[in-house]
Amino acid sequence: MARTLDQNALSARLEFYREMGIYGLYRRPVDATAVSENPETPDEQYLPKKKEVTVTAEKTLNVLQPTLSKPDGLKAIREDLGDCTRCVLHKQGRKQIVFGVGNPSAELMFVGEGPGADEDEQGIPFIGRAGQLLTNMITNGMGLKREDVYIANVVKCRPPGNRTPEREECDTCSPFLFRQIEVIQPKMIVALGAVAAKTLLGVNEAMARLRGQIYDFSTPRRPGSDLYDGKLVVTYHPAYLLRDPRQKSEAWKDLQIVMRYLGIPMPAKKSAE
Ligand code: SF4
Repeated sequence: MARTLDQNALSARLEFYREMGIYGLYRRPVDATAVSENPETPDEQYLPKKKEVTVTAEKTLNVLQPTLSKPDGLKAIREDLGDCTRCVLHKQGRKQIVFGVGNPSAELMFVGEGPGADEDEQGIPFIGRAGQLLTNMITNGMGLKREDVYIANVVKCRPPGNRTPEREECDTCSPFLFRQIEVIQPKMIVALGAVAAKTLLGVNEAMARLRGQIYDFSTPRRPGSDLYDGKLVVTYHPAYLLRDPRQKSEAWKDLQIVMRYLGIPMPAKKSAE
């Protein structure tokens, strides 16, 4: 994920920080050596207390062939989904299944709740207003390209009227998400909002309690499956941030946790003048 910032990108990034309520930044790229050299062993001083979470839910899945490349692995999952009718969302006005988009070898994966109207129309996750904010967070906030990461949702069909997906719908669709995660093997997953957080972590806590820490996360163990053991951070869903922009600075704190863990250069605080 080597990054350089040209003048336009730097300006956009500074504008993003201002919008997130972050002030007092150097107006030049920061020294990448200021962060951990090894993403696997980040500076502990920067990390919040880790919390062990055990996901116990058993899922019944097809087993991915271990010889497939990552793109082919994702293709195989999409083919297994087919014209899916496994839950009621298939008959509640969906135009198409919204599978996921991005780099099959991404180090960072974002998981949202489910497609909205724009996503249902175009078949791509996070391209509406909330998606534009997420893109802004990825590009201007974290200094990455959207193509660097992978983006998917818990449910792959649009819930009618953008309602929250039911637990049963999440439980039915999430095995495909787990398989996507197991193929991609990201170093870190960001769960966007309560539905993604609760589905992935298998806990029922308020967002305020779920945010601000790094979780050890494993996909549910099934016979013969490629398992994932990685890290997960929870933050607010961009749609919630659009409704309550005051929480953007909190989301920014969560992204900073991710950036520190992955060794992504961060803006330095301006020293007292
Ligand atoms: S939400 Fe998932 S399980 Fe339900 S119909 Fe769509 S693809 Fe199938």
